[in-house]
This record gives sequence, C-alpha cells and structure tokens, in this order.
Amino acid sequence: MALIVQKFGGTSVGDATRIRNVARRIVAAHEGGNQVAAVVSAMGKSTDELISLAGEVSRSKYPREMDMLLTAGERISMALLAMAIQDLGVPAMSLTGSQAGILTTSVHGQAEIIDIRGDRVREGLDQGMVVIVAGFQGFSPYSRDITTLGRGGSDATAVALAATLGADVCEIYTDVDGVFTADPRLIPDATKLDEVSFAEMLELAGSGAGVLMARSVEFGRRYQIPIHVRSSFHDGEGTWVKETTMEEPIVRGVAHETNDAKITVHGVPDQPGIAAQVFEPLAEAGVNVDMIVQNVSHDGTTDISFTVAKTQADVAREVTEVVADGIRARGVDVDPDIAKISLVGAGMKSELGIAGRMFRILADHAINIEMISTSPIRISCVVRGSDLEAAVRSLHDGFALGDPSKGGSS
Ligand code: ADP
Ligand code: ASP
Ligand code: MG
Repeated sequence: MALIVQKFGGTSVGDATRIRNVARRIVAAHEGGNQVAAVVSAMGKSTDELISLAGEVSRSKYPREMDMLLTAGERISMALLAMAIQDLGVPAMSLTGSQAGILTTSVHGQAEIIDIRGDRVREGLDQGMVVIVAGFQGFSPYSRDITTLGRGGSDATAVALAATLGADVCEIYTDVDGVFTADPRLIPDATKLDEVSFAEMLELAGSGAGVLMARSVEFGRRYQIPIHVRSSFHDGEGTWVKETTMEEPIVRGVAHETNDAKITVHGVPDQPGIAAQVFEPLAEAGVNVDMIVQNVSHDGTTDISFTVAKTQADVAREVTEVVADGIRARGVDVDPDIAKISLVGAGMKSELGIAGRMFRILADHAINIEMISTSPIRISCVVRGSDLEAAVRSLHDGFALGDPSKGGSS
C-alpha cells in the first residue's frame, strides 16, 4: 500500500464539476489500495479576487487580516471536496493548515514552514479516510496567528506534508501536462519534459517557471520526495522531478520572469564601502535583491543597478533615495519594464561557450542585454519587457528545444 499526497491547483478545482472530477480521481487512487492525503488551492482565481476586494475596502496594508482573508479561499475548496468524496462513498475530512499542525514562522504573507505535526492527518489516514488539507496556510506558534506561505504556496504545503508523512510520491495536479522546456502559454511548441532534476527545477522555478513554487522543490530535494507534475484533466504521465535524471542536457529549459523592477542609483562615489551602504539598509527593510550590476566608473562615480520584486519596488525606492542623499549620489530611478530570461541545464557546468551562444542569439534578434547573472547551471539576462516574447522564442529555437510535432520553428 502506497501513501500518496495529491495537490490540486486553483484551475483544477475551479468549479463544481471540476471538484467532482477531482473527487473521482482521489477515490480511484484510494480504491487502488493507497492512502491518500490531498492538498487543495483556492477555487479558480479566488485568491486574486479576495486581494482585489481587500483593495476596494482599504488602501492600507493589514498583513494579519490579509492572511485571515486569503486562507478563507482554501477553506471553501477543501470543504466542497470533502463533500464530493463522501458522496462517492469514501470517508473524508478536511483540515485547515492549523488543524493539520502546519507550524510556520510569523511573517504574514511570506511565512515559512518550520514543522508539520500532522497527527490528525495520520489518524484520519489510519482510519481509512481521505484527508484533505488546505494549502498555502499555517499557524505561527510565536504570534498565535494564521499565516500564509506566499503565492503558489499550496505546492510547498503538499511537498512538506509528503515529507512529514513519509509519502512515496507527491503528485502536483495542474492545468498543464507537466514541466515544459518553456511556459507553454508563451511558446506553444514547448516540449514536455519526462524528467527534471531537483537542482534544475529549483533554478527554473526560482527564475519564474511558476508551475512549481521553488520552496516546494527545496523540500522535495531535502527530504528526497519525488514530485510528479501532471495534468488534472487526463491520466497521462507528466514530469518527474527527482534527484538524478537519465541525461544532463546542456539546456533543459528557458524560464522567464516579469515581476521584477530594475532600480538604478546614478552617480555613486566610487569608494570602498559604498555598496555596503546601499545594500545594508535594503536588507534591513526586508527587500530581497536579485541581480546587481555596478557599471564602469568614470569621473570617480559609478551607477549601481539591481532588481527587486515589483511588489517591493516602492519600499526599495524610498530606502535607496535616503541612502543616495546621504552618499551624495546623483539620483535614483525605477524601471518596471524589464523581463528576466534564464537558460537552465545541468550539463552547462561542463560545457564551454553556452553564455556566448546565448548572447549571440539575443544579439542576432537585436535584443539588448541590460544585466547578466549566472549560477553553475543557469544564465540569466535582463532585457526590455517588450523583448520578452522574442527573447524566449529565439533562445528556445536557437537551442532547439521545440517539439517539431507541434509546428514550432526550431
Ligand atoms: P496551479 O493553480 O495548478 O498551481 P499555476 O498557474 O500555479 O497552477 O502553474 C501552472 C502554470 O505554470 C501553467 O499554466 C503555465 O502557464 C505556467 N508555467 C510557467 N512555466 C512553465 C513551464 N516551464 N512548464 C509548465 N508550465 C509553466
Ligand atoms: N491560493 C494561493 C494562490 O493563489 C495558493 C496556491 O494556489 O498555491 O497563490
Ligand atoms: Mg501554482
């Protein structure tokens, strides 16, 4: 008998019919002799709708109340799913994150799972029940408040729960057939991957491939839980995210990110200690800086550019303007019209010349590179937002990642 954790995303539980379909799928796995714990997201776009409703009620930020509000979305889907499963004659119960013993840090909107007690989940499974756990939410023992894990957080709930329960597999059911060589909504001839290593998936997810939340991949890697990303609309095999894969291609896929903004501090005095003066206050303000470029100095001054999430751009601007005044820099500007394109592949670490090939392809398509960063298995470039589609398309074709049966141009 296997123990399976199945996670269903928002589209998969988007309406009553889909919830009944998900119930049938869970019951089939249960009747196949498996113990099944399911993790659900809020229905359809309801998290976005709750966020905009809050914006209509108040322009101020109330992080605690925001988490109370957003966790309601998952309560709805979990209860409806438990009803649909019981209708099919299988005992089921739904649990909030707090009831499931999901303990987190106390940072509202961005809490991290520190432990999952899971007693009630285990008890339910041992009694032959399907146990449904609300995704994306937990409880902070420090503040005694309900928390959320950040957008896409149900993936993290699912893989962390799978680790706690010692599950054989964590299945992530979603609205695409698996992990593709690029976002299939942008590149229709992208190829579905049979396998991706944890290391590659971490880089892809961290670079904008939103099909899995990066933190869920981290849990999978740390606790060695194989993750099967697959369609909730049919039974076909999806993509296995696991420790090692049969091959290590030079480029596994292209990811893109449009949620960042570029901040530039102009005319910074070119002296030791200045970078620390710029970035320390940003860290103190909780701003997460991604790429950093310091331009060549001229006249004893230099420009420093860095990227942050668009949602943190206002805070980053305020902090940086104060610093710029203090160090007598010329000024600060914020540019939200950027996109980050990343090539990821484990084979890259032993292959020379991949960065050069990437830059050549972009140059041949008249796409200007504004920033570059690398890891051993990733190369990322910031380009104009308007060049996003051309950049992803040209790299996908240039590295021959397309599926010819879908009529791509590679
Ligand atoms: P869910 O609600 O099921 O969690 P998400 O919207 O979070 O679904 O994730 C699925 C989406 O991820 C797909 O619809 C797709 O547009 C996007 N996506 C981005 N990059 C990729 C990729 N490389 N492979 C597959 N899907 C991707
Ligand atoms: N409902 C949450 C969101 O939309 C969590 C999730 O779907 O994973 O971000
Ligand atoms: Mg998701």
